[in-house]
Amino acid sequence: MNSLFLKNIFCKKNLNKNRTLTFNCAYFKKSYPVFIQVTNSKKTISIRIEKKNILINVPYFVEDRYILDLLEKKRNWINNKFEKISSKKNIFIEEGKVFYLGEKYKIQFKKGIHNYIEVNNSILEITYNGKDIKFSKILENWYRRKCLILLEERLFFFSKKMKVEYKNFKIRSYKRRLGSCDARKCLSFNWRLILMPKEIIDYVVIHELCHILHFNHSKLFWKEVSAYCPEYKKKKNWINENINLFI
Ligand SMILES: [Zn+2]
Repeated sequence: MNSLFLKNIFCKKNLNKNRTLTFNCAYFKKSYPVFIQVTNSKKTISIRIEKKNILINVPYFVEDRYILDLLEKKRNWINNKFEKISSKKNIFIEEGKVFYLGEKYKIQFKKGIHNYIEVNNSILEITYNGKDIKFSKILENWYRRKCLILLEERLFFFSKKMKVEYKNFKIRSYKRRLGSCDARKCLSFNWRLILMPKEIIDYVVIHELCHILHFNHSKLFWKEVSAYCPEYKKKKNWINENINLFI
């Protein structure tokens, strides 16, 4: 099909301008605007995902319904792109609510002398001082601190119980993993663990401590894990199903 033929099919009155369409991205149960950039020089269509928008460059003769059909065909690709974008940024604040130890808390803001956070019932109160406050940063620092305190306690408890010694541990920001163990017996944990239920945190702690004994995911490794976390398969499944909510 050459461009002249395309032109005959699609060229109708005044399409020669930038416009916005809405595409329903069912995966996220949301509609996303499609910004259409009309070009006069190109004869091909290009699609780009930026933040939460779909940007399309189209030749002036392409009609909206053709663009929407094309997006429909590219739905999986678009969903994957959006998923990647959302996993890169802080997605832990949603509709004014955040997770903490597997429970949802409503965020409330209060002006005060220092930046600090208090948890009362189902409310997480952020007291802040000054303008231009990055609330997500205050929250992340608080989560990291809480994560450090809890992990210190859980590592102490399980390493004693399992008779496994580790060298040290760090809190890190991983994109896809929850923890790691290196050959020097140094453990690392994703600070976003603190968003998850305590039983999941315990499973991750046991998992990483078991790597000190078995530096792989062999049968012996899982046998060791099951000795301290008999329901480890349930925890693994929970992580697989829910990880996108947290990291
Ligand atoms: Zn592992």
